[in-house]
Amino acid sequence: MSTTLDTDICIIGGGIAGLWLNARLRKAGYSTLLVERGALGGGQSVKSQGIIHGGIKYALGGKLNAATEAIADMPSRWRDCLAGTGELDLSGVRVLSQHHYLWSPGSLISNLAGFFASKALRGRVDQLKGKALPTVFNDPGFKGKVYQLGELVLDVPDVIRRLAELAGDSLLSDNNPHILRDDNGDIAGVQLANTRIQARRYVLTAGEGTEALLQDWGVKEPAMQRRPLQMVLVKGTDLPPLYAHCLGASPKPRLTVTTHPCEDGQWCWYLGGELAEQGVNQAPDQLIEQARRELGELLPWIDLSECQWTTLPVNRAEPAQSGLVRPDNAYVQPVRNALISWPTKLALAPNLSDLMIQELQRQQVAPALSQATTADLPRPRVAEPLWDVCFR
Ligand code: FAD
Repeated sequence: MSTTLDTDICIIGGGIAGLWLNARLRKAGYSTLLVERGALGGGQSVKSQGIIHGGIKYALGGKLNAATEAIADMPSRWRDCLAGTGELDLSGVRVLSQHHYLWSPGSLISNLAGFFASKALRGRVDQLKGKALPTVFNDPGFKGKVYQLGELVLDVPDVIRRLAELAGDSLLSDNNPHILRDDNGDIAGVQLANTRIQARRYVLTAGEGTEALLQDWGVKEPAMQRRPLQMVLVKGTDLPPLYAHCLGASPKPRLTVTTHPCEDGQWCWYLGGELAEQGVNQAPDQLIEQARRELGELLPWIDLSECQWTTLPVNRAEPAQSGLVRPDNAYVQPVRNALISWPTKLALAPNLSDLMIQELQRQQVAPALSQATTADLPRPRVAEPLWDVCFR
């Protein structure tokens, strides 16, 4: 027999967007239920590089634009949360690097040096020299320039673990939630295996899964786009920490490297940037060969001969844009009694929850119902770190 749970807000999808919003809404007094069909964070979130961008990578063309401005205060929002003084208490969450860096292997930076030193970027980009350089660049063979960015890198599985703690008993697991539609076309409820959820508003934060949920509901807009990547993972015992964008000839980073801890004590370099964008249609072995050549050229003093290599094909799911370009900001679209959203960046989860809460206030949906009891219902697990799963 199916039981019915009533709640203020029902969220479908427990990645960074759904979990952050859930915690914010609970703190604001709303009753919430969040349904996840797999593991929490197991979509794009744990496959991300964990960089809490302040927008500098979007300014590599030499000017600030809407994207760089919208995202600029995200690092400080997250840092406040990590210090326990922000909108959510993320104290204790593992910070992998207090800074992300930008490095130029040769003279390419010369065009951008003036821009980086400009008033607009003061405090957001600082050039490092000598002993201040990260250890990975401390080699006589290194001839480039390194800039420290006001951005940080987080251990995303640990962020997800903490957000799941903040969710209390609001999390539900169901491998095929079904949207029920009433005669007016509104969402009448969400049907799980043995439970029906009825909410005052429904929020879709299912990442790539949002497209199928909208189809299930019978709604065509907003449309979604996928921007594919093929990331490269390199695992070894002696890999030094490296958190940096490497500049190439184009306004996009040639390579973006982050470093992650593996369960067996080894470290994994996770390689994105143009390598991963352009490698989408390559066979994994071919892309790995290219990544080896790139690293051999850029950091020839690092011995990668004993490392394990693999690749990960993954899509970024976002609201559709003309020309498949990257959207500038978190996206929230009200549709009937639902709110459809994509954060477009992990870093923008606080921005997404601001937009959601503003929209709920605009629609005069204030906290009203008490929290439903979910003690006997299945609860989703937190996704395992990618660096462990990919090398098993
Ligand atoms: P997801 O994390 O995909 O979560 C959606 C959840 O919904 C999943 O858990 C899924 O199982 C669930 N779901 C799907 N369908 C259903 C359904 N029908 N019912 C119930 N649940 C469902 N951003 C940054 O800011 N910094 C970075 O360094 C960064 N690096 C990235 C690197 C890569 C390789 C990629 C792919 C993205 C990166 N991003 C980064 C972007 C960032 O990862 C995403 O914008 C963000 O994680 C999206 O979060 P989300 O919660 O919307 O989606």
